Amino acid sequence: MPTIAKNIEQVNSSICRAAEKCGRNPETVKLVAVTKTVEAERIKKAAAAGLDRFGENYIQEAREKIEALADANVSWHFIGHLQSNKAKYAVGLFDLIHSVDSLKLAKEIDRQAARHGRTQKILVQVNVGDEEQKSGVKKEAAVDLIRDIAALEHISVQGLMTMPPFFDAPEKVRPCFRKLAKLQKQIGRENIAGVEMKELSMGMTGDFEVAIAEGATLVRIGTAIFGERK
Ligand SMILES: *Cc1c(COP(=O)(O)O)cnc(C)c1O
Repeated sequence: MPTIAKNIEQVNSSICRAAEKCGRNPETVKLVAVTKTVEAERIKKAAAAGLDRFGENYIQEAREKIEALADANVSWHFIGHLQSNKAKYAVGLFDLIHSVDSLKLAKEIDRQAARHGRTQKILVQVNVGDEEQKSGVKKEAAVDLIRDIAALEHISVQGLMTMPPFFDAPEKVRPCFRKLAKLQKQIGRENIAGVEMKELSMGMTGDFEVAIAEGATLVRIGTAIFGERK
């Protein structure tokens, strides 16, 4: 079996095992295959092997691949840092934007979504690591930001995302995942109109099993599928 197909099979069975181990239905965990630096031909192989949800970090790079895979029935997620002035490109290309962390960016996405006559689904990225980090709203500020975003007509908030600081042991990121899940529940209880707190985007190659145990619904996995990035 080709390497990519074999890797996908392994990742899928690890996801299943991690879900079952904590009493979750494996179907509640969706795989986002992270394709930054992966060329279109290899993404096509992954699509042929059954993957249908891909995550990209950079607009320009994503654009070419999305075009190359136009005939495949797949969806694209934006997982990188998004500058407000690039929102106009992101809105036409991505089904879900994981990385909204400011009202300024949300307003620009809203404006572009209105132009396209659509509602853009987004996640709010939270910095739960409490250390100096450039991306993500602080968890204390997340509810207020989400209230403000909820007032925008062409955006639908679907949940939260986090990118914890790098640790050498997956167990060390567990507290970050737990904080995000707790925040999701707190915000969910606020019943903010237009906000569906159903998705938790957390977990990568090194720690997705832990993320699943803490409630992840979207795991973003690159290396375990496509190998080390150059
Ligand atoms: C690169 C990246 C991933 C995937 O990382 P791997 O360790 O290769 O699985 C997940 N999320 C984000 C935001 C990334 O930039």
